[in-house]
Amino acid sequence: MTARVPLNDLVRQNKLVHDELVASARRVIERGWYVLGSETAGFETAFANYCGVSHAVGVANGTDALELAMRAAGVDEGDGVATVANAGFYAGTSIHAIGAKPLYVDVDAETHSMSVDALKRLLGRQAVRAVIATHLYGRLARIETITAICKPLGIPVIEDCAQAHGASRDGRKAGSFGMAGCFSFYPTKNLGALGDGGAVTTDDAVMAERLRELRQYGWSKKYQVSRAGGRNSRLDELQAALLLAKLPHLDRWNDDRRKIARRYSEEIKNPRIKCPTDFGTDNVAHLFVVLCEDREDLRRHLDKHGISSDIHYPISDHQQPAYMDSSVDGLAVTERLARQIVTIPCFNEMEEEEISRVVAALNGW
Ligand SMILES: *Cc1c(COP(=O)(O)O)cnc(C)c1O
Repeated sequence: MTARVPLNDLVRQNKLVHDELVASARRVIERGWYVLGSETAGFETAFANYCGVSHAVGVANGTDALELAMRAAGVDEGDGVATVANAGFYAGTSIHAIGAKPLYVDVDAETHSMSVDALKRLLGRQAVRAVIATHLYGRLARIETITAICKPLGIPVIEDCAQAHGASRDGRKAGSFGMAGCFSFYPTKNLGALGDGGAVTTDDAVMAERLRELRQYGWSKKYQVSRAGGRNSRLDELQAALLLAKLPHLDRWNDDRRKIARRYSEEIKNPRIKCPTDFGTDNVAHLFVVLCEDREDLRRHLDKHGISSDIHYPISDHQQPAYMDSSVDGLAVTERLARQIVTIPCFNEMEEEEISRVVAALNGW
């Protein structure tokens, strides 16, 4: 009986850095300072340098990063925020938390990221206060074009980098293109904490200052609330220390994921399964998502062969039961992809034999 191929295995990845993680945790435990101290400051500096920006501000999670970045950019109740509807409703959650309104833009069939033409059409027809561009599945969106369109209109672009830590194009990294880059360090992300965590990157000193106030009750100094809309959303010392230990390994881990993804796109030859291609520097292979018309049958086949699969994401944002909006239209590509996507295992420390089994199972369907 061979073991199932899981969709992810965090124990394997963390084993590689076990001693460093333990030493970091011990340092924090023994110091006795657990929230907003030297570890968070150290990680913020290291992560800003890694992303090639002047500031990184640690927050509690990726959804808060999006919300606080929008608030710092001046998004308010009733404002319209353009975003995609195929990225798991995290942007939707943060937009609704402000009382703003998501304006859903269709995606490109090839990249699953925001369609530039659809964005232009929206901008021509409606007031847009900000744009959230998501680098989905690890691949950079057409972010240079999106920022070039929005800049002359004075519309801030916020990057959702929660699946794209380290992705780069022409030497620029995810989180350095827009007014702000929002990261999640949820354990399964390419850079993952051992709990929740997040950060916002920016080159704008005023923005960074606002974020530091917003993440801590709106304080400009202790017990003085100078900024409305503040929250408690801090990256704690323990998670920051663990992330600081993992960050030096991120590029290698991204390379390892890309290698698996390249093998899949070369070796999966089943004509009924469409694989993503192009795993260059702008794609950190966070998720390997194939397209297939008879998805349920494929998933049953994979399950029978001991291979885990999932769907990222099964429900488009505008069809979420709590926020159902049947007046939304123009999302034909988003809706078609939502019916065809299947995620197959692609994670760090996946074994050779597991990769071959996945390929064989897909080719054997
Ligand atoms: C994971 C994720 C988030 C949210 O991050 P949390 O830390 O879980 O709040 C936001 N956007 C995308 C695209 C994600 O994958």
